Amino acid sequence: MKALKDAAPRVFWTDRPGAPAYHPLDGRTTADLLVVGGGFTGLWAAVLAKEENPACDVVLVEAHSIAYGGTGRNGGFISDSLTHGLSQGLKLWPGEMDTLLALGRENLAAIAAFVEAHGIDADLRLVGKTTVAVAAHHVAELKAAERLHREHGEDAVFVGRDEMRTDVDSPTYLGGLRLRGAGGILDPAKLAWGLVRVAEKLGVRVYENTAVAGLERSGAKVRVTTGSGMIDAAQVLLATNAYPSPLRRLRNFVLPVWDYVLVTEPLSASQRASLGWAEGQGLTDAGNQFHYYRLTADDRVLWGGYDAIYNFGGAGSEQRDATHDLLARHFFETFPQLDGVRFTHRWGGMIDSTSRFTPFFGTAMGGRVAYALGYTGLGVGASRFGALVGLDLLARRSTPRTELRMVRRPPVPFPPEPVRWPVVEVTRRALARADENGGRRGPWLGLLDRFGVGFDS
Ligand SMILES: Cc1cc2nc3c(=O)[nH]c(=O)nc-3n(C[C@H](O)[C@H](O)[C@H](O)COP(=O)(O)OP(=O)(O)OC[C@H]3O[C@@H](n4cnc5c(N)ncnc54)[C@H](O)[C@@H]3O)c2cc1C
Repeated sequence: MKALKDAAPRVFWTDRPGAPAYHPLDGRTTADLLVVGGGFTGLWAAVLAKEENPACDVVLVEAHSIAYGGTGRNGGFISDSLTHGLSQGLKLWPGEMDTLLALGRENLAAIAAFVEAHGIDADLRLVGKTTVAVAAHHVAELKAAERLHREHGEDAVFVGRDEMRTDVDSPTYLGGLRLRGAGGILDPAKLAWGLVRVAEKLGVRVYENTAVAGLERSGAKVRVTTGSGMIDAAQVLLATNAYPSPLRRLRNFVLPVWDYVLVTEPLSASQRASLGWAEGQGLTDAGNQFHYYRLTADDRVLWGGYDAIYNFGGAGSEQRDATHDLLARHFFETFPQLDGVRFTHRWGGMIDSTSRFTPFFGTAMGGRVAYALGYTGLGVGASRFGALVGLDLLARRSTPRTELRMVRRPPVPFPPEPVRWPVVEVTRRALARADENGGRRGPWLGLLDRFGVGFDS
């Protein structure tokens, strides 16, 4: 497609100056706490550990560069939900929902306060989001969701087609659910870069291009080997998310689902005006296969989602022409008034899906190793909570977080290959069929729903 012809195969967020750079680890060292992974989970863990105990010697290692993973590749939607949305939380843990909501709100407020206190230019705008109805059955679904959100104290308003189109103008909209106060949007790379600078200032030693190859017990410590280094750490926090975990058993719980994104050139003033979109909130559509889209600080549109691809064995590519073409087509169907706009960036990344769509946590090696992962496409905010849980587990302390069933129980594992791929593929097709059939989920999804399992992005 012409609009994609000049799109660079790079991530918009990190394809800008300003990235901090760190040497790889060469040789041996020690640490009180070793954090593995330089995404939001690892960065928050390093910062929070230092804030709690400045004397703690913290080392963070990252296989590539800071924000190389989902953290630098995402849509930049930040949510106060820890449970992949309210309805999923209610389905899984109705008795704990009030606590989960309170902890999620506290977490979002703490992120906003941190950004403010450290003067991080992360373009954080707590403008909420709108979910739009683009098929007739979405209207009833969004009206039901409006009731649910209101019952849980959220500022939710369903608007009909005309009001929706006055807010943001697309001929595909049939209505929308506006949520204010439950989150917003930010610039994820700038938040990650801000976090690592704070971590460094607090005394965290950061090493990039340092992939952990193995972990083993060594007396009272954990010996961690990297390409050209070795770290003897009293405690280790694994924040490797959808990447193959150094702790092999975790690979059964996270499905790496490839998700793709486009970013346009900056819109002209008249193109920008043709959209309305005065509040600049993030938007998603309501289907199982959904798009997410938002404006950037320089008036580009970031447009991603829809095709969630799982390849046999979890392999994948950051570039997928068929998906990028499909996304571009959907973009112009949604905003025909932007005909002629070009895309400047195209990329993909791994969504960290668990079978219950929420993160999970735990420990290994006699409590010396903890992990927090599997945010299922909603980890920009929840990763700070994940880091806190990881630190709680290492400290063996009981907190309102560690009492949660979400923390105490793991999700149902995915089956191993060669069964995994066909099962996911059947599910993916069933989700697409449900979108085409007025939302009716059919027997396969009905069965998965009965067991409370699935996959999502
Ligand atoms: C395309 C896309 C769009 C998304 N959109 C949103 C969104 O809009 N809102 C939202 O809330 N969430 C979104 N997400 C999800 C969100 O980005 C993640 O949940 C979040 O960034 C998770 O952070 P993390 O630190 O746990 O993982 P990551 O950011 O993936 O970090 C893990 C890091 O560990 C490193 N690593 C892996 N293995 C090793 C090893 N052996 N040794 C050393 N380092 C290692 C990796 O290189 C990586 O940098 C999206 C994800 C993708 C891919």
